[in-house]
Amino acid sequence: MTVYLVGAGPGDPGLLTRRGAQLLAEADVVVHDRLVDRSLLALAKEGAELVDVGKRPATADPPGGDGGDGGSSQARQTDINRLLVELGRSGRTVVRLKGGDPFVLGRGGEEVEALRAAGVRWAVVPGVTSALGVPAVAGIPLTHRGLSTSVTVVTGHLGDPADPAGVDWASLAAAGGTLVVLMGMANRREIADRLMAGGRAAGTPVAVVEWGTTPAQRTVRTTLAGLAAVDLGSPAVIVVGPVAALDLAPVAGTLAGTTVVVTRPPDQAGPLSAALAGAGARVLELATIEVAPPEDGGAALAAAAAAAAGYTWVAFTSANAARRFAACLRDGRDLGRARLAAVGPASAEALARHGLVADLVPARRSADGLVEAIGKAPVGGTVLFPRAAAAREVLPEGLRAAGWTVDEVVAYRTVEGVRPPAAVADEVGRADAVVFTSPSAVRGFVSSRDDRQRPLVLPAVVACIGEVTASAVRSVVGPDDGHRVVVASSPSPAAIVAALAEGLGRAGAGGVGGGAPAGEAPRPAP
Ligand code: SAH
Repeated sequence: MTVYLVGAGPGDPGLLTRRGAQLLAEADVVVHDRLVDRSLLALAKEGAELVDVGKRPATADPPGGDGGDGGSSQARQTDINRLLVELGRSGRTVVRLKGGDPFVLGRGGEEVEALRAAGVRWAVVPGVTSALGVPAVAGIPLTHRGLSTSVTVVTGHLGDPADPAGVDWASLAAAGGTLVVLMGMANRREIADRLMAGGRAAGTPVAVVEWGTTPAQRTVRTTLAGLAAVDLGSPAVIVVGPVAALDLAPVAGTLAGTTVVVTRPPDQAGPLSAALAGAGARVLELATIEVAPPEDGGAALAAAAAAAAGYTWVAFTSANAARRFAACLRDGRDLGRARLAAVGPASAEALARHGLVADLVPARRSADGLVEAIGKAPVGGTVLFPRAAAAREVLPEGLRAAGWTVDEVVAYRTVEGVRPPAAVADEVGRADAVVFTSPSAVRGFVSSRDDRQRPLVLPAVVACIGEVTASAVRSVVGPDDGHRVVVASSPSPAAIVAALAEGLGRAGAGGVGGGAPAGEAPRPAP
């Protein structure tokens, strides 16, 4: 099979390419660097083998992807090459996930040479290199009219200027323009000295961006003369040149610097995750329930769909039910004159994907709102209600009270609890907050175990949609164990962002990227 060298981007998981995400979801094995964001690993399918080949750096300059040279690092690189060849021959689909872009100072070229020599197929999926992406997110345009017309990316490993493989700092100094130094923190004093010796002014602006594009991002602006004294560590990008004095970074969002777990399946998390990321949060998607066919394999649902034309209404309180019901129809003619009611936009959207228009979406997005909107039954009024198995549903009761005859049919089942890899579970435990959009997601969280059989740790701030979900949360957290439960005023992504901001004490002021969630001891989930 094929070994895919996939660029993971500089840190923010949102900067992975779509092709990269698709391959991660298909891979049997993911061979990754140490710094690769855990939420990217969460994109791997269940049961995929995750191999951490991150090199613990011997020096104070840990490479962001990989990259160091020197003896022991060379030995480790040889081991990685050998592992990739072996996996490539095993017939499994292999993703080699590398920080930034695989072919920028990451030794991806060497890995491909090894694969080629062994006759293993490979493909390269580019990534956003930290050299370009980190300055951009930090508000530093690498070229700018009147300031710089070129960018040079260079390793901070000094090398011997006489050696063609070494870095000729004097020539780089003479060339001017913008210089982007990767892996340069350990040698920052020497780099500054060599550039100044080569003729760059001591007052040349310099920016150092540490942990760029991540919640822990920090930027220090100085000059070449001040570079040695910059108190940041690795991974960091050093930008040298007049553009380093520019600051075009956006005002931080209310959730900047926080990590938020979204417990929805990826196909339903989109708008919420985007809103959270837009407010500056790092988002970790972890579905805690899985949607499965009913116990009877869907036979009853198919029969109900075939008889749908005999009802006045078909009502939906879940997008999953709407999707599975619609998939049973040949097309809209199967509905005859039956009308469709959807509790909210998600159910309506699921119908629309099958070419069906909801006749009714109540202004109040709740089962009560739907009952009210459907109104009192005419004599003989009937409603078909495709629903989740074993859910406590208020809709049928309300409709019956209003005089309707309601037939319920199980459209799907939710399996509560998942089995994430330990690395993902650890990230969840370190997150600042979690969002639950249903009681089953709460139960799924509590019954999940990682691949070490440990329960997930519930983050300190818990945001819920609606009181039903909130009481499910309150039934699993004790009043005194330090959790803060906030309830969004509506299910909209904006309302959830606002609730989180309140729960995290960020309401009002635009927060500042405060760094990794600090100092919180993990709390075991009850
Ligand atoms: N292939 C990678 C580079 C690997 S070398 C790429 O294209 O980005 C590792 C170096 O990249 C680090 O020492 C650091 O200089 C830089 N780097 C990687 N991630 C970074 C980040 N999030 N913030 C700042 N620098 C980063």
